[in-house]
Parts: sequence; structure tokens; C-alpha cells
Amino acid sequence: MNRAILTHEEIPKSMIENRENPIAIKKEEFKKLGYQLIDSIADFIDSIEERPVTTTKTPSELQKTLGDAPLPTNGTPAGELLTKTTDLLFNNSLFNGHPKFLGYITSSAAPLGALADLLASSVNANVGAHILSPIATEIEKQTVKWLAEFIGVSPNYGGILVSGGNMANFTAFLAARTAKAPKSIKEDGISNASEKLTVYCSKSTHTWIEKAAILFGLGTKSIRWIPTTSSNQLDEKILEETIKEDIKNGCKPLMVVGTAGDVSTGVVDNLAAISNLCKKYDLWFHIDGAYGIPAAVIPELQRMFEGVSEADSIALDPHKWLYSPLEAGCTLVKDPQHLIDTFSSHPEYYNFSSVEGEVAQNFYEFGLQNSRGFRALKVWLTLQQVGRNGYIKLINEDIELSKLLLLQAENHEELEAIAQNLSITTFRYIPKHYKSSAGQKEDYLNALNEALLNDLQMGGEVFLSNAIVNEKYCLRACFVNFRTSQKDIGEIIAIVVKEGRKTHERLSQTKD
Ligand SMILES: *Cc1c(COP(=O)(O)O)cnc(C)c1O
Repeated sequence: MNRAILTHEEIPKSMIENRENPIAIKKEEFKKLGYQLIDSIADFIDSIEERPVTTTKTPSELQKTLGDAPLPTNGTPAGELLTKTTDLLFNNSLFNGHPKFLGYITSSAAPLGALADLLASSVNANVGAHILSPIATEIEKQTVKWLAEFIGVSPNYGGILVSGGNMANFTAFLAARTAKAPKSIKEDGISNASEKLTVYCSKSTHTWIEKAAILFGLGTKSIRWIPTTSSNQLDEKILEETIKEDIKNGCKPLMVVGTAGDVSTGVVDNLAAISNLCKKYDLWFHIDGAYGIPAAVIPELQRMFEGVSEADSIALDPHKWLYSPLEAGCTLVKDPQHLIDTFSSHPEYYNFSSVEGEVAQNFYEFGLQNSRGFRALKVWLTLQQVGRNGYIKLINEDIELSKLLLLQAENHEELEAIAQNLSITTFRYIPKHYKSSAGQKEDYLNALNEALLNDLQMGGEVFLSNAIVNEKYCLRACFVNFRTSQKDIGEIIAIVVKEGRKTHERLSQTKD
């Protein structure tokens, strides 16, 4: 039975005529709150350098700060909430926009990106379908084209913005599977494939590849981890031998992943050589450039990135070296039809077909998401604000600072410089009289540098992360930070040495 339907007269007037509600904010109030918020954000950004890089509070202390109130039954005025919450965030966060934040690969965010996000969520375009996001879809298409131009591949590459590097690599992985695995797997699934599908990458490839192999049905045993050469690049000789061996054993090789800027030390694989092998064996050539590929914009580095324009797909992360606020990743595909072949579906409840005589691009057909936010806007705006030349300057300066840190570590008697590629520097602390006998004390030096890293991260003066290079536990600085300058390098060296001495003293006392 249908439930009773109210007649027009029975509907309470207040409900339809004057929808007083707890969520809308009237214009004058919105202005007041907005201006206040922008004022506090401007003060925050202006004073970021003077703040500790991160809070020293422990998880339980943070829980106490937050309190453990149950879900609110009734509402609270928005102004009160915003004031409290700006304090909460500005006083208890890690600031990757701080000039001495050089950990992992997380950049300082372009301030314009914050304003772009506010604008994007105000319009609230759903960039899943053109009809739901008319200009936003066109802006995302242009952003994708500009990103292709930025890294020096044909602007005919198509693609999509996603949440980050992992998702960008997943999106490409699935396109590769569609393109190179037997066509029947779309219906029959992977377990019915007669040949074992295999993928190839160097052993320094980021963990996304394992997640992808698990999630998309190949299993981790399908990953062939190819050893690296002495320069830490994927060894193409071993790659070719492995591919041949697999074919002989009845496997079906799908794709090779080349990395353009590995997470630990910034090494770029020999992309041109990998591309040639992919052509020879009819494999999909994917480049994980999540961190490093924006450096291809620098004319002097173009040789390092030779082969990029041959890639079937590329993952890159505007939220890393293009300084976009989180989240922004991007998948570029040479022939975007592979994305549509992989992700498109046409349910009867979608009326998204083309405008007469024109093709409207629907981004839900290009990736995993259905409803999608307008993350392209912040990238699109910042690309215009900075321009190609501005980015060449910023990225070059990051690289120069990374080299300067290596040099200063080299010249310090208590530091050992380990490696430097793109904008990543690895080094470690070595107590004064240890240098000559460092070889015999590796275990202690590893323990010391690990403890030192933890002390540094808790200290709030500088934020570095770690890398293991040739079995040495290293401190690692990655420069994707337009606020860091030369003076920070000297100060970071001083902080590391000061803390290194303290940590060493503490460890040698507990040892005795
Ligand atoms: C950062 C990174 C990833 C993962 O990217 P997220 O944005 O963190 O998901 C993958 N590969 C490489 C080479 C990276 O540097």
C-alpha cells in the first residue's frame, strides 16, 4: 500500500514557505565569518615560520584536547565552531608548509590553492558528468592537457585528476590490464585467465604496486621485482631476461613500471631503454612520476627524462612538486580510449549522452570515481599563477637547496653525505671519533640515526624522514618546499649536529 499522501492544504505552511533551517547561513553572517576566517588563515600563513614544525603532543594528549563529547544532539553556531576549530588546528598540527618541513614528499601548499578549494566547494560541481559540471569539466580537461605539456609529452594525452599518486598508478594499472590482458577477463575474471599475468618494476618501486596487484586480482606473486644497477636504476638486462623467461614459462607479461624519481633517493630509471623493451615485447609502459616527473620541465634535465613521451601512461602528483594542496594526483594516458574501455558503463539512469553534434566528456568514464569533486581548480589556477617559467625557477631552487645540504653535510666532520638526486638528500650523523672506524660500527650508527630521527621529529625544530641506503639508516630531506631558503640549510645542519650529540650521549650512557 502507498502511504497516505498529504493534500496540499495539509502540508504545514512553515515547511514550504519559510524553510528556517540549521544549516544555511545568511549573507551578512557568511561574510562576517568568512572574513574572520580569512584573517586568521592569513596570520597563520604569515607566521608559519615562527611556529614549531609539529606539535609535541602524544595521541592521548590530543584526544584530551579534543574531548570525548558524544555526537551533538543540538546545533552550535557556526562562528563559535570556526573560532574554536582554527585554534585547534593551528595549535595541534604538523605544518608541511613550514620552511623546515622536508619529510617524506609533502609540499608546502600554494596559498592560492586554499582559495581555489573554497571557491570550488562553493560552486560544488560534480565533475563526474559534463552536464553536472559544465565549465568545471572543461577546466579539468585543460588542466590535464597542461600537465601533459608541462612534463613534455604530447597534449593529446588524456587523463583524469585523482586523489594522489596511489590512485593515479591504480588507474593506469587497470588501463594496462584492459589493454594487454586477454579481452575475456572483463567477463570471465582473472582467475579464468589461462596464462599467469605478470608485471615488472624495480625493487625500489613504491608500495602502490603491491596494493594494485592485490586489489586488481593479479596477486603479489605476479610482480617481478627487478634488481637495480649500481646507480640504483632498474637493470634493463635483467628485465629483458626475466621477461623472456616468463614468456618461455607460459606467463603473459602485461606492463613494465619505470620510476621517475624514486621515493627514497630520487633516482630516475632509464626510461628510454625501458620503453624500447616494452615496444619489443608489446608491453604497456607505465611511468610512476608521482614525485619526480615535474622536474622534466627544466631544460637542463631533459636528458634524464628521455623516453617520457613514449609512455602509455604516467602517474604524477600535483600535490607534491607542483605545490598543490592535498589532494591532487593525475593519470595521463597516451590513448585515453583505454581509460574509457576500462571504466565506462552506461546505466539506464544516466542521461549523460552528448550534446547534439558535440562530444561531452564525462569524467566518470575515465576513472574509479563516480561523483567527483573539483580538485582540478586549484591545480589549474596555480599553473597559471606561476607559469612554466615560475615552476622552472621553483623546482630548480629546490634542487639547488638539496645539493647545498649535501655539500654542507660533506664538509661537516660529524656528518656523512650519502646521496643526492633530484631534490632528495640523504646523510647521517656520525659522532666525532667514529668516522675512521665507521665500518665496524654500522649497527650502532643505524640505531643512533634512527633514534636521532625520532628525536628530531618530536623536537619540532625540523622535520626530516628516513631512507635506508646500502644498509645505512639515513636522514632524508626532500625539498618540495617553496618556503625553504639557504639560511634554513645552515640552521638544519646545526640542529642535526646539536641533537645528534645529545642522542649519542643518551645512547652511549644507556649502553654502559
Ligand atoms: C608519493 C609517491 C607515491 C604515492 O603517492 P600518494 O600521493 O602518496 O598516493 C607513489 N609513487 C611515488 C614514486 C611517490 O613518490
